Amino acid sequence: MKLLQERIRQEGLILSDTVLKVDSFLNHQVDTKLALEIGQELARRFADRRITKVLTIEASGIQFAMATGIALEVPFIYAKKKKAVTLSEQVYSAPVHSFTRQETYQVSISQKYLGPEDRVLIVDDFLATGAALVGLVDIVKEAGAELVGVGCVIEKSFQQGRGLLEDRGVRIESLARIASMSPGEIHFIDEEGQ
Ligand code: 5GP
Repeated sequence: MKLLQERIRQEGLILSDTVLKVDSFLNHQVDTKLALEIGQELARRFADRRITKVLTIEASGIQFAMATGIALEVPFIYAKKKKAVTLSEQVYSAPVHSFTRQETYQVSISQKYLGPEDRVLIVDDFLATGAALVGLVDIVKEAGAELVGVGCVIEKSFQQGRGLLEDRGVRIESLARIASMSPGEIHFIDEEGQ
């Protein structure tokens, strides 16, 4: 998505060879028009797949899952990050290891909102190590639902996330794929080449 690549070039701050800061327009202050366009583009790429639910993880996937859900005219669900899951709640849950925080936390969603009849598109802001998305893939599997694919806003293709998901047979659509980056320099994988 050329428009997104341009914004990353203009406003993205490359803090290191692995960390890109985009909080002026994507995941802290949010450009609402761009977020809606991202949702429309992800919906277009999965238009023929009869999706019934969009699934993301709090917090920074929410605006893109909502925009995609609006475009597909289906609900979205966001998995909650919790340390402990109360026994009284019927939830699907999976552990996610955060490499940035060096901790493992549980993500969970209520069993009321996902089941074998669902066809699910997972959406998130970044695909990096893939840990968060693999957690969501496991939740979809646990629910017995059909995983249609994963839609990411930004993929850091030099990290292992894509490989981990592909090993599980997951279709991935990323709107901006970064081949490499370092402070002052960023290279995208051309959309035509995807
Ligand atoms: P994972 O490593 O599990 O693929 O990514 C987990 C989460 O870390 C992403 O959903 C995203 O919120 C955050 N993240 C990963 N890499 C970056 C990055 O380079 N910049 C920002 N702003 N967030 C990132």
